[in-house]
Amino acid sequence: AKAPVRVAVTGAAGQIGYALVFRIAAGEMLGKDQPVILQMLELPMEKAQAALKGVMMELDDCAFPTLAGMVGTDDPKVAFKDADYALLVGAKPRGPGMERKDLLMENAKIFIEQGKALNDVASRNVKVLVVGNPANTNAYIAMKSAPSLPSKNFTAMLRLDHNRAVSQLATRTGKAVTDIEKMIVWGNHSPTMYPDVRFCTVAGTAAPAAIGDEAWYRNEYIPTVGKRGAAIIAARGASSAASAANAAIDHMRDWALGTKGKWVTMGVPSDGSYGIPKDIIYGVPVTTEAGEYKRVEGLAIDDYSRTMMDKTLAELQEEQAGVASLLG
Ligand code: NDP
Repeated sequence: AKAPVRVAVTGAAGQIGYALVFRIAAGEMLGKDQPVILQMLELPMEKAQAALKGVMMELDDCAFPTLAGMVGTDDPKVAFKDADYALLVGAKPRGPGMERKDLLMENAKIFIEQGKALNDVASRNVKVLVVGNPANTNAYIAMKSAPSLPSKNFTAMLRLDHNRAVSQLATRTGKAVTDIEKMIVWGNHSPTMYPDVRFCTVAGTAAPAAIGDEAWYRNEYIPTVGKRGAAIIAARGASSAASAANAAIDHMRDWALGTKGKWVTMGVPSDGSYGIPKDIIYGVPVTTEAGEYKRVEGLAIDDYSRTMMDKTLAELQEEQAGVASLLG
């Protein structure tokens, strides 16, 4: 039998956390043969800790064969101790009258503290996924706060955008999601992200031909994918939690277990390619193997794509400039 691995989850009693930890415990992220120890962080407030206790009681009641142990805490150094995987879901939501800039600063403080804690106590190979928004910039902050850990181990979640892009294309073309390959979503996890179907195939047909209507692609498809989160809030009266948790599982599973040549989108620190300045955490196409991701290299970037990619890049640079003073 495999030795257990340690999986840290922050904001474990929140909406996404509640849709996430049971699936991790059930072996849906790392495999049914991989025991996990869940290390869950929540805010110190009584209400948050009580909710976390309730989640842990339910985890007990599932009697998952793959759940080898669990820890609930309000201390990042306890949650991240020897962690092999860290899913940073907890983040401060925008309050009434709060400016985007204030939100950025509030979250920067959280992710500086968590980056430092990861730096001090996590496994030297910890794989970090940031879900809490603004996810790319939070991942950047955590990475910069953890100088002893490899930067490449800090990633942000673009997978929900990727999955939305695949699903919308499947609907349009009347094909199955499994018929769609080589989707890309470039950039920031925000409405500026750019779903690029130029290399994508639908049951072997080039996606632009399968769509057959460039105006639809530019004017309907791209905004539909970009604004899907808001559409779900409008429909459900609450934000997308199950699909976000599902995307987090997909991201980590693929990173850990490999995609067998299949392209997926991950937000990863830039190596300077595709005109994205080094270290910016930007959604790019990758394949994964043996626990490592590899950028898909050498794709041609046309004028329209350049414009779209620069727009989402500019937003990320603005976010980064907003927190620069805190990173020293
Ligand atoms: P959710 O679980 O719904 O969301 C958590 C974070 O994920 C938010 O930043 C949210 O961004 C983000 N997110 C990313 N993608 C999506 C998506 N597709 N749909 C919805 N959200 C997305 O929030 P809750 O408030 O229910 O739970 C957060 C938990 O985190 C709480 O239990 C809180 O106590 C805890 N927390 C822990 C902290 C810590 O550990 N230090 C700090 C702050 C909070 P957005 O806000 O843009 O929706």
